[in-house]
Amino acid sequence: MAGKFKKCMMLCCTRKPVIEEMGKDTWEEAIAGLQKLLSDKSELKAAAAAKVRQLTVELAGAAEKPVSDPVERILAGFNHFKKEKYEKDPALYAKLAKGQSPKFMVFACSDSRVCPSHILNFQPGEAFMVRNIANMVPPFDKTKYSGIGAAIEFAVLNLKVENILVIGHSCCGGIRGLMSIPDDGTKRRLCDLLSGPSFFFIF
Ligand SMILES: [Zn+2]
Repeated sequence: MAGKFKKCMMLCCTRKPVIEEMGKDTWEEAIAGLQKLLSDKSELKAAAAAKVRQLTVELAGAAEKPVSDPVERILAGFNHFKKEKYEKDPALYAKLAKGQSPKFMVFACSDSRVCPSHILNFQPGEAFMVRNIANMVPPFDKTKYSGIGAAIEFAVLNLKVENILVIGHSCCGGIRGLMSIPDDGTKRRLCDLLSGPSFFFIF
């Protein structure tokens, strides 16, 4: 407790935190030492440059390592998106801000290992997605399954998607559970439920 209180006092003080000063001094001393060495032995400059480049790469990699705190993880993920995606292609996001016209509607499993955008390299605006356990496409019914039914209706009638893709995957816990249910003899075909867009199945 005493240590914690001491830390708080240091952070609230108008002086710079001791740890920051220590880091700054250590860094400046290290740089000063390197500069002195290279001024005395200029033949080491090429080797020093290579070492500094290597250290820069290592530090950059360490900065991007996954963080365990969930809030920090979300912030890091958003910052990565903003820096590496959004700010590198402002024209795409300006276009997407005006609307969407995806060519694909995708049904995929909720399984965290099989993200369709990751596997098929879908870019923002390319695929309208429904994800649920075992990538189920329910039969048409005006009162049941309204969530997925509304998604299909919106995609087909409003977005006018040209292709519907159902993505299955190996080691699916949902399919394993489904196959453990005794067969009641009912048979339905997905293509009987919709017409118009092309259907593709990936399993
Ligand atoms: Zn699955």
